[in-house]
Order: sequence, then structure tokens, then C-alpha cells
Amino acid sequence: MKALLRNYVNGSDGSRVERTTSVADRRASALSAAGVANGFSNLIDGKPSISVKSLEVLDPATGEVLATVPDIDRHGVDSAFAAARRAFPAWSNRSWDDRRSIILAAIEKLREHRSEIIALLMAEGGRPSSLAEWEAASVLDEFGPGVLAQTLPDDVFSQAGVGLVTKHYAPLGVVAAISPWNLPFLLSFDKVVPALLTGNTVVLKPSPFTPLTVLRAAELIRDILPAGTLNVVTGGDDVGPWMTSHPEADKVSFTGSTQTGRRVFGSAAETLKHLTLELGGNDAGIVLPDVDVEAAVGPIFWGMFLVNGQGCITIKRLLVHESRYDEMAKALTKFAAQQKLGDGFDPETAIGPVQNRPQFGRLNATWNAIKRDGTPVLYRGEEIAGEGNFFPVTILDNPPIDAEYVMHENFGPLRSMIKYSTIDEAISIANSTDYGLGGSVWGQDPKLLNSVARRMEAGTTWINQHLVLSPNVPFGGNKDSGLGVQYALEGLKEYCYQRVIWAKQ
Ligand code: NAD
Repeated sequence: MKALLRNYVNGSDGSRVERTTSVADRRASALSAAGVANGFSNLIDGKPSISVKSLEVLDPATGEVLATVPDIDRHGVDSAFAAARRAFPAWSNRSWDDRRSIILAAIEKLREHRSEIIALLMAEGGRPSSLAEWEAASVLDEFGPGVLAQTLPDDVFSQAGVGLVTKHYAPLGVVAAISPWNLPFLLSFDKVVPALLTGNTVVLKPSPFTPLTVLRAAELIRDILPAGTLNVVTGGDDVGPWMTSHPEADKVSFTGSTQTGRRVFGSAAETLKHLTLELGGNDAGIVLPDVDVEAAVGPIFWGMFLVNGQGCITIKRLLVHESRYDEMAKALTKFAAQQKLGDGFDPETAIGPVQNRPQFGRLNATWNAIKRDGTPVLYRGEEIAGEGNFFPVTILDNPPIDAEYVMHENFGPLRSMIKYSTIDEAISIANSTDYGLGGSVWGQDPKLLNSVARRMEAGTTWINQHLVLSPNVPFGGNKDSGLGVQYALEGLKEYCYQRVIWAKQ
């Protein structure tokens, strides 16, 4: 049965009449306003480009086809790299300020179309509007302008007998940028903006599961950016490997799973490409004995389940001191029960469907293994029948810490709560996986909080928060969670090589 939303509008005679709007109607009108019926093209050399073959993009809440996008062939990928190569000399020769103002104009244009971007993020991601608004704002108001506010000044050394030595940051050339499906707009533009700003040109490939927002954004800004500076291609499983081994790609900036990251590393080796890999995570959140449960439970829940648990840096293992375990279990269960699972176009929904069918299948297979093992379950929400990928919020109750489904990343709303006795034990469990993306520690004693945070083997650790990022702070993974960093000056430098000029004096 369709969920019904009730709103009130003024009738033609000025009286208040009641109107009901179904979730399906809401989706249809948002998609119509976002121009889905006009179709989607790739962007190559400043022009829209279609392919003989196409891919279907499915709605995760209904299983219906939302739109089709080009399934590019090898020749099309070559054209995109050739266009990026041709555009590189002129683009890299422009001044930093010139490039910045062009990219700012592009962001301004996207801001004018914010509601379309939000509608597409909701539809292809299966998101509640608040989450889609947050992702749009992250790009348009925070990370885009934040990255653009930075510069990479030259370093100058003057030494007697040596002369004047200037080190400056020169662009690498053509960047192959590949993004995943969980935050398709943010994790595409957090590559495009720094790559272009530093003078590189780009061939971008969004995930085939969520290409719509990125394709629409590229279409909107194609007349602002010089032809060939940004090219966007979509296609099946072959396209990523073509890009990461392409002779015209000087750098690969990749966000995705650790498994694919390993393939990218191998594929880029032949031509010795520069690499930034942002990969999977299995973050621990360590809850100390002096935690304020009431204050912490909301931020901890959303630290675990933001983006429906499909976040690289979400808390995947919550380690709670034995003295507070039962209290935290009760508070977390109560909080979880208040979050409605459903279609993102229903305003009451807090948690949407899993974004795609294969991922939904993997989560269900893990759930079957958990049931087979008889692992205790602290909380599982209600299941929703139908064609949508609805996986209820699930929290395991002190599962074996070395179980497959605890040691490996669960990319969806499936989490573990684990009991520990000593701080050393908690740190040892936190550091026991191959990942090292993020982690957090929750409590009140600043000295203890800091010492625990410093012992976690992760690229980012937070104290009494999780998942807070800034364009001015570097972000990257340790161990199997990645290579290199994004954001801040360190992130800009990843798109450059250091060119040193010696001037005789
Ligand atoms: P994925 O690795 O399956 O795919 C990521 C992208 O790589 C997609 O565009 C895909 O089409 C492409 N791809 C697939 N095979 C390829 C290959 N052989 N060569 C090149 N490209 C290829 O990941 P996903 O399922 O889309 O995303 C979820 C994963 O991403 C999770 O593991 C998550 O933790 C990780 N992630 C990491 C970060 C981070 O910043 N560290 C952020 C978000 C997501």
C-alpha cells in the first residue's frame, strides 16, 4: 500500500482544501522537475555523447528503471582521454585564479539547479531528502568552495653558492577519476575540483549504479568549462580497467572497495601512474566506562548508520566497556526503533533502501550466515516486502570478534556491538582488522580520550564524534584502507609533481 502524505493547499475559492500526495507522485514530480525524461549523455570534448549500447539505472526503492545511460565502448573512452590530453596545455597554462574563477562559476551554476541535484540523489541513491540535501550542500557550499579557497604557493630557497631555488607544484596531466555509488556527487566532485584547480584535466567515471546526478551536473556546466577539461563517461565493468591502464592517464584517483583498489593498483603499475586510493573501512568506535550514554547515543547511532550504513567511515564495530554495555544496548535499541525504514520520497523515512541489488544480496547472504551461526542479535528492524532493497537496521549482540562478518566491512545497515573489559583489549580489537580508515572514542576524561585516539591505527580518529570532515583537513586511510590523502593542501599536492627550478645568481 502506498504511504500517503497529507498536505493542505488553498482552493480556488481561497478556502483550505485537503490534498493527498502519494510517495509515488512525489517521486514522479521530483524526477520530472529534474528532467529525467530528457535522457542522459556522456560528456566528451565539451559535447554530449551517446553510445550504441545503454545501461539501465534502477530505483533502489521500487526496482523500476529510472533512466538509461550510455554504455561506452573502448573507442569512446579513448576519445575522452584524447580530449582531456588536448585540453591540458591550455588549461594548465591558465593562472590559478583564472581556473578558480571558472570552477566557481560552474559551482554557482550547479547551485542554481540544487533542487534537481537533490531529486536525482534521492532517486538513484534511495535517500531521504535530508541526506540528499546534505550531500548537495557538501559539494556546493562546503568542499567545492573550501578546496577552491586554497592555494599552493611556491617554496623558495636561497643559499650562498647554490643560487635561487624555486619549488612549485605542476599538474600531472590527465586524471582518471573513478567514484563509487554511496555518495556519487561528493566522491566525484571531491576529485574533479582539486584536479582541475591544480591544472589537470579529467576523465570521470561514476558508478554504473548511480551515474545520474553526475551526468546531469556535467551537462549543466559543460558550457562553463573549456571543452575537454572535464569528460564524463559511463559504462559497464570494462570501463574502469580501461581507464586505470590507459596510456593517456597520468594519475588515477579512485574511491571504492579495497578489493577493486588492489586491481586498480595492479592495472596502473605498467605505466607507473600516480595513485590516490580511498578504500574500504571497518571503523571501531570505542565507548569508555565514563561515557554519557544519553548524550552519545544519537551521534553514535548516526555514526553507525548514516547513508544507511553505506559509508566508508561509519562505525562498523561499536566496542563498549562491560560496565556500560547493557545501558548502551538499551539506549541504542530504543533509538534505532524510532528511525523509520522506507522510501526516501516518504518524508517520514529516516533510513532508505540499500542502493543496489548486488549489495542487497551480499547483506542478505551475511544475514543468513549470522542466523546459521546462531549469533545473538541485539536489534533488527521490521522487514519490508516488495521489490525495493530494504534491509532493516541490524545490530549484533557481542558476536565473536574474529567472525568473518565482524572482521570484514559490512557495507549496509548491519553492525556489531562488542563487549570489552580493559582499554588495552579495546585497542587491540579496534586494530585487529586489515583496515585503517577511521575510528572514534567516546567518554569524558580528555587525557584518556586522547591517549586512546592516538593508539588507533586509522587515518582519522575522532573524539566524541564520528564522520566529521573538512576541506581544510587531510583525509586518507591507513593499511588496506588506501594510499594518499584527499582535501587540504596535502590533497591538492596529490594532483601535482614538484618541479624545482635552479636559477644561477
Ligand atoms: P567498487 O570498488 O565496487 O566500485 C567503485 C568504482 O570502481 C565504481 O565506479 C566501479 O564501476 C569501478 N570499478 C569496478 N571494477 C573496477 C576495476 N577493475 N578497475 C577500475 N574501476 C573499477 O566499490 P562500490 O561498491 O562502488 O563502493 C563501496 C566501497 O567503496 C566500499 O568498500 C566503501 O568502503 C568504499 N568507499 C571508500 C571511501 C573512502 O573515502 N575511503 C568512500 C566511499 C566508499
